[in-house]
Amino acid sequence: MSEKKYIVVTGGVVSGIGKGITAATVGLILKSSGLSIDVIKFDPYLNIDPGTMSPFEHGEVYVLDDGSETDLDLGHYERFLETNLTGISSVTAGKVYNTILEQEREGMFLGKNVQLIPNVTNYIKTCFSKDFESDIRLIEIGGSTGDMEGDIFLESFRQFRLENPANVFHIHLGYIPYLACSGEYKSKPMQSSLRELLRSGLQPDMVILRSEATNTRPLDQSIIDKIALFSNLTPDSVISLPDMGSIYEVPMYVLKTTLLGNLEVFFGRSFVSKLPDFYDKYKPVSVLKDEIIIGLVTKYTKLADAYLSVFESCKIAGVEQGLRVKVVMIDSDSETLEKDIDSVQGIIVPGGFGKRGMEGKIKAIKYIRENNIPFLGICLGLQMAVVEYARNVCGLDVYSSEMFDNEEEKAGKQCIVDFIPGQENIKKKGGTMRLGSYKCYIQGNNTQSTLAYRLYEVNETLERHRHRLEVQNAFVPILELNGMKITGKYYFESPVGNDKYLVEIVELDTSVHPYFIAIQSHPEFLSRPSKAHPLFKGLVEAATQRVG
Ligand code: GLN
Repeated sequence: MSEKKYIVVTGGVVSGIGKGITAATVGLILKSSGLSIDVIKFDPYLNIDPGTMSPFEHGEVYVLDDGSETDLDLGHYERFLETNLTGISSVTAGKVYNTILEQEREGMFLGKNVQLIPNVTNYIKTCFSKDFESDIRLIEIGGSTGDMEGDIFLESFRQFRLENPANVFHIHLGYIPYLACSGEYKSKPMQSSLRELLRSGLQPDMVILRSEATNTRPLDQSIIDKIALFSNLTPDSVISLPDMGSIYEVPMYVLKTTLLGNLEVFFGRSFVSKLPDFYDKYKPVSVLKDEIIIGLVTKYTKLADAYLSVFESCKIAGVEQGLRVKVVMIDSDSETLEKDIDSVQGIIVPGGFGKRGMEGKIKAIKYIRENNIPFLGICLGLQMAVVEYARNVCGLDVYSSEMFDNEEEKAGKQCIVDFIPGQENIKKKGGTMRLGSYKCYIQGNNTQSTLAYRLYEVNETLERHRHRLEVQNAFVPILELNGMKITGKYYFESPVGNDKYLVEIVELDTSVHPYFIAIQSHPEFLSRPSKAHPLFKGLVEAATQRVG
């Protein structure tokens, strides 16, 4: 392609309506036609990154290979585009202002008044085009029109578009609510959002209407026509995108709309309307009959978005095996914990921070271990599995340093999960954990197989991390003596003859438990629709075998 093209997605009415999924879908369609794509997500909040935000505030913190802590939409991009992104793809208002203020302190603006326009807008515009090596750059501007924090990004976009009139395609996504009491869709909030957008000097090339429309309750053409009128567009450039059974059905749906035609006009070429073959498997997700249920034992049961990639990883592993996987939240503090666990076929104890719910997780893991329930522990899940095993099998009075606040509670006990050396005194919270991709050496081979080797089928893999604490190596001999196998390790130097390592994977022999494995990193960030992550694949397989 001669000139690089930008596809910019903005949103209106409310946030959380799937701008990321829509932008990722557009990317997938273009990628399927042989174009290379990269992504930038602009987030209007003032945090440098979402790493310091609670999952209640923000949902999952998605971690990239390079250790960047980012918005969960980056996960959609990595999954839909089958790519591994870097921190360049995530720009927050916090990062933008931080850079400008650092530049000011360095004296880069000497003698000048530092202003939103042009200093901040100019910097944002450089982010639009910086390091752009692919054919197309997808840009998602977070938040919705009318948010004060987002204005500076919209203003930068307005200027950028003026400077690149032929190379920018702008999609505005908004929501059409349905009023059950009167049985009708209401376009007024969307009209206001469009008016706000036009007032900012932005004319979209297409509008996408999200709604809860169904076959029996479709979005009327009159709404599409009205929105087209308000957007200075023809109805062909306004499409309806209702909720789908699975987000992987969105690309197939979108391909049947006029979106492709609009893109063809913009790019001046035709595109193939065929997705990669594995998407065929996703077609029947909403009609798949066989369902298995995986329980997530956690203290954040109110917000499924806190574990978005775990949910997606389970779904992908199920689809690969022709199964629908339902993930349910199980409260680690529930009084009916064991009964709740009994009602599902497999359990994940996912990552987490803070002491609340830890004893419940340990209790859950004891029950899972003793009752042969398929189990995958992730990060905190591994740490709790080790504490449980040390206490209940090795007979040690141990704790994880996150469990107790004061010295009295620790008296007479041993700390089995503690800070990585050098991390104990770090006071700063942002970006200071063990973050990003590290090598994991997997023990085992074809003759001396381990569960980890059977699943990964390789001796070396990369996994993404986000944690401060580690299993203490001094306890490894006693854990092993009592039957817990350490089958994945990270070595500081060479893995040969070296005891400078960190524990990465623990497991129980399959002769004593059908599927009990835990990992210190976050495998959920590496599942792709074309290939389930081996640990999730194994869990779903084991769960289908479970006689409940
Ligand atoms: N809180 C634990 C730690 O910091 C586990 C982190 C996690 O589960 N991501 O090590």
